[in-house]
Amino acid sequence: MSNNAHAFQPTPDDDTDPVDRETSHDFIDQPGPSLERKAKLFALLYSSQEVDKRFRRIHEAMLSQSPQIREPDFTVIGTDDLERLFAHYDREFFMGRLAEMLVEDSAHPAAFRLSRRLTSAAGQTIRRVRRVNQGGRSLNRVDYEITISTTLLYNTFLQQGRAVTVGGLPCSDRLEALQRIFEHELLHLAEFLGWGASNCKASNFRALSRRLFAHEAPHHDLITPREQARIAYGIQLGDLVSFEIEGERRVGVVNRVTRRATVLVEDPRGQPYTNGKRCIPYYVPLARLRKEDGSS
Ligand SMILES: [Zn+2]
Repeated sequence: MSNNAHAFQPTPDDDTDPVDRETSHDFIDQPGPSLERKAKLFALLYSSQEVDKRFRRIHEAMLSQSPQIREPDFTVIGTDDLERLFAHYDREFFMGRLAEMLVEDSAHPAAFRLSRRLTSAAGQTIRRVRRVNQGGRSLNRVDYEITISTTLLYNTFLQQGRAVTVGGLPCSDRLEALQRIFEHELLHLAEFLGWGASNCKASNFRALSRRLFAHEAPHHDLITPREQARIAYGIQLGDLVSFEIEGERRVGVVNRVTRRATVLVEDPRGQPYTNGKRCIPYYVPLARLRKEDGSS
């Protein structure tokens, strides 16, 4: 059983910790990754004008076909939209090869999910290998799941004037950002299908992403809850903050920001942390935090 998860990470800055999780991959029964598949995927090559033309076609098709996505800065999306995007992208960019390879591996269709819990990565592609019994034989079967973060999509494009790039390319609306995130995840899927493993920081992925989508980087700068906390509440990692719990005031240091802040409060009953102190973590809604003097 293996579980390779790859995430489209935010642009690294001082306080982000973007790491793709890597694990070994298991052998799967035929046909699976092969030289022939690598060659087929690497043969796909589009000029940036051609990428743009196909990208626009998909953008327009989504707006005219989706029951939910009625405008570029949509406010409702369903998993059927991700299925629709997959069909368009496979046809426009992959010549139908993704579906073809998924069928060959008995992994068709891939699963699509929307998640509010992805708050740093904008997307994630997971490859799972499981044992199945077929006609008395035990076989390894693989399946794939692509998840897109709705938290990041909905946090972004709320106000004018904040430039957004995904894959190193500017995005002017939420649907464009979704498309670019989806392209990145499809590259992970393609690498898994052709090579059996995938890593967006490695040269093979970079080369594929330039050839297929003219991407320049494997990062995004969508508005994460961490940035939102900085803008809306002036709160950053490492800040000294206070909050009230059951009528008592606690003071601690902000250690992590997702949909809530993790605040480490010194306490002899707590776990030892890397700062050498014993602390208890509290998960506090941002609106309930007060910034204390003595931090930036
Ligand atoms: Zn990635």
